[in-house]
Amino acid sequence: MEKMVIIGSGPAGLTAAIYGARANLSPVLFEGHLSGGQLMTTTTVENFPGFPDGVLGPSLMESMRRQAERLGARLVADQATGVTLSPRRHRVRAGDGELAALTLVIATGAAARLLGLPGEEELIGRGVSTCATCDGFFFRGKDVVVIGGGDSALEEAVYLAGLARRVRIVHRRDRFRASAALQDRARAHANIGLLTGRVPVRFVPSDDGVLRAVRLRHTATGEEETVEADGAFVAIGHTPRTELVAGQLALDEAGYIVTTPGTGRTSVEGVFAAGDVQDRHYMQAITAAGSGCRAALDAARYVESTG
Ligand code: NAP
Repeated sequence: MEKMVIIGSGPAGLTAAIYGARANLSPVLFEGHLSGGQLMTTTTVENFPGFPDGVLGPSLMESMRRQAERLGARLVADQATGVTLSPRRHRVRAGDGELAALTLVIATGAAARLLGLPGEEELIGRGVSTCATCDGFFFRGKDVVVIGGGDSALEEAVYLAGLARRVRIVHRRDRFRASAALQDRARAHANIGLLTGRVPVRFVPSDDGVLRAVRLRHTATGEEETVEADGAFVAIGHTPRTELVAGQLALDEAGYIVTTPGTGRTSVEGVFAAGDVQDRHYMQAITAAGSGCRAALDAARYVESTG
């Protein structure tokens, strides 16, 4: 039986692996389909302490990975496909095999949300995207819209401003939730425009089946307008990835794993949660890393207490 199995390879999972390895728990970490998590699709991270000039998201994650491996964590380039939680012998399935674990750290993060509007799903990969750093390249010299008013939306807009001809941010309110620093960065780009007080109602395809325009509705008047766009980047927040544990762990009304305040403990003995899957407020790389540390220390204490 493994002493510690971690699911997820973002800052939370890898920090749990670093602490777990140093506590002699020989952690096994399932990396999932995108090793490194959401920071793999980010450009410069300016707010992770220790990097005065900023650091590229993928490079930060590669450093965490190397650090975890050097300390003895075993990283498995596979996805956990199922877990059965039962105290003192949790089971994790991946590929054709199954592992038993005394402690489990769930650090599966959160996935980008979609609007659920007509045309959206059909046009994903054909003009509609949730990741500017992944798909921005295809829109060089073109017109794009970014939907949302949080940090993600403004960050995507700033990134796209360096590639696209014109970027318009579509936001349902006049005020932005994004940090003042990001708002200033967006305003500094002459090719970023704002379409506030509007919500998208549908994505309009061309005859070739790629995005041609986005239909918007003014929230104040109900009037509609069509905005021509080659690309539409949806940046309206995230949904926690709890499909592995739903029905087995207590989740809150928004679907986030509930942890005992100030700890990484979940509703099941020996199961700990870290990162965005249990954090609907902060969702930062550094808070994810901090909660990964906490989950691993709680797991180490639990292992000790079971003798
Ligand atoms: P977020 O802060 O929740 O913002 C989501 C935005 O989408 C909000 O402006 C919201 O509008 C809008 N929205 C939500 N549902 C919508 C709908 N159905 N139709 C139209 N608009 C909708 O999400 P996020 O930007 O992904 O950020 C998540 C967390 O990650 C935050 O804590 C953020 O600070 C952090 N983050 C940080 C950085 C950074 O520091 N560089 C970068 C990215 C993310 P309302 O404002 O009207 O609610």
